[in-house]
Amino acid sequence: MHGIDSTVTHSSSSALADLGEFGLISRITAGVRTHESVITGIGDDAAVTALSAGMQLLTSTDMLLEDVHFRRVWHDPYRLGRKSLAVSISDIAAMGGSPRWALLSLAIPSDLPLEFIDNFMRGFLTMASENRVALIGGDTCSSRIGLTISVTVMGEQFPDRIVRRAGALPDDDIWVTGTVGDAALGLRLLERGETVSDELLSRLLDPNPQVSAALALAEAGLVTSMIDVSDGVLADYGHIAEQSGVGGCLRLDALPLSAAFRRHTAALPAVPYQLALSGGEDYELCFTAPRSDREKIGDCVKKCGIAVTRIGIVTSSPGVTAVTTDGTPYSAQTKGFNHFT
Ligand code: ADP
Ligand code: MG
Repeated sequence: MHGIDSTVTHSSSSALADLGEFGLISRITAGVRTHESVITGIGDDAAVTALSAGMQLLTSTDMLLEDVHFRRVWHDPYRLGRKSLAVSISDIAAMGGSPRWALLSLAIPSDLPLEFIDNFMRGFLTMASENRVALIGGDTCSSRIGLTISVTVMGEQFPDRIVRRAGALPDDDIWVTGTVGDAALGLRLLERGETVSDELLSRLLDPNPQVSAALALAEAGLVTSMIDVSDGVLADYGHIAEQSGVGGCLRLDALPLSAAFRRHTAALPAVPYQLALSGGEDYELCFTAPRSDREKIGDCVKKCGIAVTRIGIVTSSPGVTAVTTDGTPYSAQTKGFNHFT
């Protein structure tokens, strides 16, 4: 598409300028593989894809802005490429959908090394192939304010298997996969210039979307609502509660914390519930399900090699609270991780 003044081609004498817009697009898309569901992929004005018979289309998009969502000093290009796609795949998974197709739009500073773009694409396309997602198009232009990445992922699913935020029922259990708070703790440690263990760092820089667990739960019809945890379980379960017209009570002592999380926070006077409850970027699944299906839920998720933990109960009265071991309500604002700020 035309820019109002200059494109990558004219803006500077960098390696990117030498390559030009179309050379750059060729380079970005060089590693893209064909896929049976893609009838016309990259190279035409629009991509043509075939939905599986009887399925509906799920679409989600995310932007990642330099110095807002990532910093080039912390996020190496390979893992940034993986994460750019992972966060949108996670949204499709949280609906119970199978991720299938992706669009990638990049606004690239003219001094960005070509090597950065090559490694970014290697990461992006590795995440794509791990999840059987085909890159079918995008847009490429120059940026004067840092690298901007916009990713759209489309997926598909049978209508009766799609899981929404609305659907949680009073007395359902509230569940979460994996562990929470690791990515947020990793970020806090980076911000403070402290050493961060590889486990925490990879939770932050290379999140793993829980596609197989989400699909297994959706296809077994076991869950009443589901969301991916990008803003912390408290806020994200809050979205489920709001959309379902219910409330919830979360048990702090039930929150699944990783060994690395416990190790890093052991020296602190208070257990840092703030990060576990409200730290972002876990990309785990939070879902609700009837109490009668506890065993089935455990079996279903364990088959995917994923741990799952009951962290609370859906209430009929609105509002989401968190309680400590003795049942005292916990105020997320006043306690928790102040030691780290
Ligand atoms: P148009 O001018 O029609 O927008 P472009 O020249 O921008 O077309 O893009 C040419 C082709 O390359 C299109 O198929 C587009 O989807 C694809 N494309 C451009 N940038 C990217 C990108 N960053 N990732 C994947 N495909 C891209
Ligand atoms: Mg274009």
